[in-house]
Amino acid sequence: MKLIVNIHCLGGFREVGRNGVLVESSKNVLLDYGLKVENAGKPKHPNREVDALFVAHGHLDHLGLAPAIYRQYKCPVYVTGPTLDLSNLLLRDSLKIAKLKGMPRHYSATDIVNLHKGEKRIHYGDEIKVGRKVKVDVWDAGHMPGSCMFVVKTRGKKILYTSDFKIKSTRLVNGARFDAKNIDVVLMETTYSSRNHPPRKKTEKELFQDVKNTIDKGGIALLPSFAIRAPELLMVLNDFGADFPVYLDGMAKSATDIFLRHPKFLRKPKALKAATEKVIPLFSQEERNNALKEPCAIVTTGGCMEGGPIIHYIKKLYSDSNSSLIMTGFQIPGTAGRYLVDTNRFVHDNMDLKLKMRMSQYDMSAHAGRDELIKFVKKINPKKVLCMHGEYCKKFATELNSRFELDAMAPKNGDVIKI
Ligand SMILES: [Zn+2]
Repeated sequence: MKLIVNIHCLGGFREVGRNGVLVESSKNVLLDYGLKVENAGKPKHPNREVDALFVAHGHLDHLGLAPAIYRQYKCPVYVTGPTLDLSNLLLRDSLKIAKLKGMPRHYSATDIVNLHKGEKRIHYGDEIKVGRKVKVDVWDAGHMPGSCMFVVKTRGKKILYTSDFKIKSTRLVNGARFDAKNIDVVLMETTYSSRNHPPRKKTEKELFQDVKNTIDKGGIALLPSFAIRAPELLMVLNDFGADFPVYLDGMAKSATDIFLRHPKFLRKPKALKAATEKVIPLFSQEERNNALKEPCAIVTTGGCMEGGPIIHYIKKLYSDSNSSLIMTGFQIPGTAGRYLVDTNRFVHDNMDLKLKMRMSQYDMSAHAGRDELIKFVKKINPKKVLCMHGEYCKKFATELNSRFELDAMAPKNGDVIKI
């Protein structure tokens, strides 16, 4: 009898967010179990035993529901060092935001503490055994410090789960490193299947110039950032020779500290260290208001302008046409940041502010662009590609089928693929 492997598509299929994939064979391996950040939406429930959870990286759409999984299954949860530290930071923050906004809370603070008991550290190049017959390889995904791709090896099949990945190096991390041999199935993120990113160096240069011009005019350059993007922004400002004060605020401070604790996962740890040494951290409202007295750059959370010190700064600066709001993160639909980009109005709580400060956006994505995705498929040369984590999964699968000799598809949440 031929033994079958079932791939359960639990979440992140034909959508972005709440990733979850269960590979079912003699042991059941869960790859990511995240949250839809904007509405706390969950992936489908595994509905069977889970023997191990592998978390690809420290983003909530990949690990946001790990505490709930651990509470139910008490299975080992495999993470790299940076992911472990970030999970603590992000899960606590997510709980706080859910409480504040009246969104469903799927776990408690105690569940976060308990999760850490089940967390096991992994490193790039590891081969982890789940039971006697299932093995999981850990590769560098190049998406952020500590990010992984996983290859589940079971019943003579090799299933590669890319999670989020990037092949080109950034200032912060090296690009993905992978061994392309004999992969049967790839579950691949396709966030940017429809377009390429502009050259990074050019983007960084333009961003720096934008900050510099603002400061030369006597304004404040406000850089809202996801906590995890902030260290890269600090490096850009420092590497291009910032000769003005650079402040760091909000959860971005903790994320930067976490990355500095894991230099092996950084491309240029010394450059990040040098950048942070010149940065002035802000903690109190008084310090924030003092910082605004002179032209400067402020890197602060939150990236989508839904919370964090950024709200305070926008309230103070929105009518100042000399100041700039310089965005680098993807503005998730339904957030205050997205509404601001679309309408030029900042609507939050009981505020509705028409912005006079200048707004600009730069693409500093940590995801593979369209050409990188195609190159990746060509290099791996798998038998089957399951497109996920994207808005155009179906279209991209059709394109892959016409370009390559393989079977590409775009399953839906709840589908089970038998191999
Ligand atoms: Zn991610």
